[in-house]
Amino acid sequence: MKRVLVWVILFAMPVRSSLARHSTRSASSAQLGENTQVRAATAWFAQNLNWINEEQARLTEIPAPAFQEGQRAAAMKVLLSAAGLDVQVDAAGNVIGELRGVNEKEVVVLSAHLDTVFPAGTDVKVHHEGPRLLAPGISDNGTGLAALAAIARAIHDAQIKPLRTILFVANVGEEGEGNLRGMRALVEAYRSRLKAVVVLDGAGTDHVTTIALASRRLEVVITGPGGHSWSDFGIPNPINALVRGSVRFINTRIPASPRTTFNLGQIDGGTSVNSIPYEARLKVDVRSESESELARLESALRECMAAGVRDEMESSRDRSRGKLEWKVELLGSRPGGELAAESPLLAALRAADAIVENESRIERSSTDANIPLSLGIDAISIGAGGNGGGAHSLQEWYDPTGREMGLKRALLTLLGVADVAPEKPR
Ligand SMILES: [Zn+2]
Repeated sequence: MKRVLVWVILFAMPVRSSLARHSTRSASSAQLGENTQVRAATAWFAQNLNWINEEQARLTEIPAPAFQEGQRAAAMKVLLSAAGLDVQVDAAGNVIGELRGVNEKEVVVLSAHLDTVFPAGTDVKVHHEGPRLLAPGISDNGTGLAALAAIARAIHDAQIKPLRTILFVANVGEEGEGNLRGMRALVEAYRSRLKAVVVLDGAGTDHVTTIALASRRLEVVITGPGGHSWSDFGIPNPINALVRGSVRFINTRIPASPRTTFNLGQIDGGTSVNSIPYEARLKVDVRSESESELARLESALRECMAAGVRDEMESSRDRSRGKLEWKVELLGSRPGGELAAESPLLAALRAADAIVENESRIERSSTDANIPLSLGIDAISIGAGGNGGGAHSLQEWYDPTGREMGLKRALLTLLGVADVAPEKPR
């Protein structure tokens, strides 16, 4: 979860009329809150808080670094199967539990990512301090995974039959180098039937991410002949070229609005202080509220590096030993997108907020929701209740106090877009 910018305060308002419009056959949002089965599902949370907290701790203690989510995925498969779902693991490693709807041609996804930013070997034992649980990954995304399992169980135990098919997905590859690979594979597989995606990421009920922040990660590699610092002085030096190019890039003008950022995050190269290096590498992260600014910044990086290499070649005294080669590679790309203000998914979220008496604000962020949003599929990312902090640090914590509200909010949002058949009059 990488929340970046707070936008507008949204006051939760009842939106009965817009939900009724989007599906006249189904329960309106107000009826959803009154539906006996839905009430039974929301009551399930309060009755099973200990179980939810314990499962969260147990899942968090199963390491899940990028590309090593398998063991935690297996545990989620057991939990989702126990919720009566038909569970498969796809080629990417996503755990997909299906609850067949009346209308199987339309699919709604509730997802939570399995992976953490912590490398293998990190101590992920959960410690207790008062009401708090402490461990790397406890909140991001132990909270989301526990909520995913709890919501599936609550719907199963209340015997709710949705109108649209619901997929409960514990997905791989959300963090960093995972590059959203799990969500990419999922959306690719279900694209034609996919109506909405609700992503559970971390704690809280204070926000709803509807705007996907676009980002790119690039690596510059410059290579040359290499040699001795004294006897070969004058041949082109890849580190010199990288520094010349980097200075040009740092001086590139970027707009304050749309907000655009860059970071020279990692630099490598050379073998010793008295060797002219044969290689220099630089990793750069660029982000923007605008895809065109992002493209402009990527072009600027290429132009600056080309100029840095040219400057170094022109100033070198000895070109007989060979020239510099350079390339800029795209390591990762997260496309941007935005949920329409009048979308049924946002209406369902607002209706859920009204029922649980919550207020939430719109946020722009880089999450699994980037992928469906970039393809025009309705998607949001929300916290799954309770409070957390220290995400991506070894001091990460989670406090489950009041988590029922977040669970109810997520459940009502999900059922709002999946739809539930109205109850027969008694
Ligand atoms: Zn996360």
